[in-house]
Amino acid sequence: MEKFEASKLSRRRLLEIAGFSAGAALFDRQLFSETKEGIVPTMVNSAAKAKITVSAVRRNISVLEGSGGNIAVLTGRDGKLLIEAGFAVSRPGISKALLSINNDPIQHLINTHWHTDHTDGNAWLHSEGAEITAHENTKKRLLVDTRVEGWDWTFPAVPAGALPTKVFGAEHEVKLNDTRIALKYYGPAHTDSDVWVHFTDADVVHVGDTWWNGVYPFIDYSTGGSIDGQIQAAEANLAMFTSKTIFIPGHGPVGGWSEVAEFRNMLVKVRENVAALKKQGRSLQETIAAKPTAIYDAKWGQFLVTPAMFTGLVYQGV
Ligand SMILES: [Zn+2]
Repeated sequence: MEKFEASKLSRRRLLEIAGFSAGAALFDRQLFSETKEGIVPTMVNSAAKAKITVSAVRRNISVLEGSGGNIAVLTGRDGKLLIEAGFAVSRPGISKALLSINNDPIQHLINTHWHTDHTDGNAWLHSEGAEITAHENTKKRLLVDTRVEGWDWTFPAVPAGALPTKVFGAEHEVKLNDTRIALKYYGPAHTDSDVWVHFTDADVVHVGDTWWNGVYPFIDYSTGGSIDGQIQAAEANLAMFTSKTIFIPGHGPVGGWSEVAEFRNMLVKVRENVAALKKQGRSLQETIAAKPTAIYDAKWGQFLVTPAMFTGLVYQGV
């Protein structure tokens, strides 16, 4: 259907037919004026150049930063467990970083959701011996060509070796390296495949892209995400964990409960501002011009998702 229409219709018209408002078209245009080559190649190139850093979190848990989503690592006699796979271009850097922790082999991998900046390294990690666990919707998305309008990109189905080898629906539990690991599905949030991964004894949780620490989040409406889902997931993080919990976000530095609360409050306030403007009948362009994110921009608007783009993502869902 898309191929047929694309040959006859403009991209904007195509988006309108597909149910995307002018918001999506504007979102794309702004995105590409800032990143000439598109957001996905930008993320890959940045990962290819990045130095992968390793930081100790608590007990036998560390975090690797520099290749897409933050990667958590649990070590021990059962081998290494990784949460997130980063981009495949980072294989040399990630391998080196993992060896700097210890020589344990890589035995397990968990994906918090299907997005490429969290799953692109699945194939090489699987080839090194990692079983891959994820929500059933992660496998469903990776099995077929999947389009993300907000990134203007269609991801081809992944090869068999990159697919999760074990999937679950509502929740799942693993015991490795004398550590209990509880996985739970959020329901539709940032996508329709988001799970948290909680090391219960250490009380460290990887919450994937339900939390972006200090930067505006991307929200993937094409695969089941929405501003309301993103807010509900933030509420779940606050309800399920405590001030003693260490939170590993999908993007940004590791932090705590009060910073997750700050993120939740920002989402709620921006949603309220944008919804009020939309209710007055303002177009997306007029809503962006009214700067509904202004009080947050200095802190939160300095990463890939700009204030205008974030306003567009919220506008689409209210
Ligand atoms: Zn994501």
